[in-house]
Amino acid sequence: MRVLMVEDDAVLASSIARALRAESFAVDIADNGEDGGHLGETEAYDVAILDLGLPRGDGLSVLAQWRAAGRTLPVLILTARDAWSDKVQGFKAGADDYMVKPFRVEELVMRLRALVRRAAGHAASVLHCGPLSFEAQTGQFQLDGLPLRLTAFEWRVLSCLMLRKEAVVERLDLLERVYEGDADVDSNSLEVIIGRLRRKIGTSLIETVRGLGYRLTGG
Ligand code: CA
Repeated sequence: MRVLMVEDDAVLASSIARALRAESFAVDIADNGEDGGHLGETEAYDVAILDLGLPRGDGLSVLAQWRAAGRTLPVLILTARDAWSDKVQGFKAGADDYMVKPFRVEELVMRLRALVRRAAGHAASVLHCGPLSFEAQTGQFQLDGLPLRLTAFEWRVLSCLMLRKEAVVERLDLLERVYEGDADVDSNSLEVIIGRLRRKIGTSLIETVRGLGYRLTGG
């Protein structure tokens, strides 16, 4: 899963990014409205955290820009503006959630996970696929009821496949959700990660769909 954070407070941005990366999320940070607007419009993200007071374009305009461009990614506004009228403005501009600073990062992570889960069309917080289960609010995977230990890259791939289980996830789409924007990506790195996952969860769960991508299937 890959998160876009548009936040001009560098200290806050790096502390949120650290917390999200510790939960295995890939995180891209934009410190102004112009760059954030461009990234959200052109790159694939599972969710965005958007500040309102930003240099070079405020958050509401950035959000309006994304929605006008047809971008459907869930957006959580994170701001010091706590008036109800600000919240109304945010939701009217197309926000999916709104959090006021100061906040607990644990709550932010929970809200982001819920937004990603709902955007993928899942109401229940636990997803199942064959012997595999995924607790979407904690990010924990289990195989045959036992905790599954995954690296951050493995987790990003498997959670993306799990949220879209039984559907083909295109290779490029998967790659975009695994690597941060400035990462140096090797052309066969996704295949390496898939190979490692198959060794951990068995070869039958992740199906290769030639010329397209991968599909997680419970059989
Ligand atoms: Ca700000």
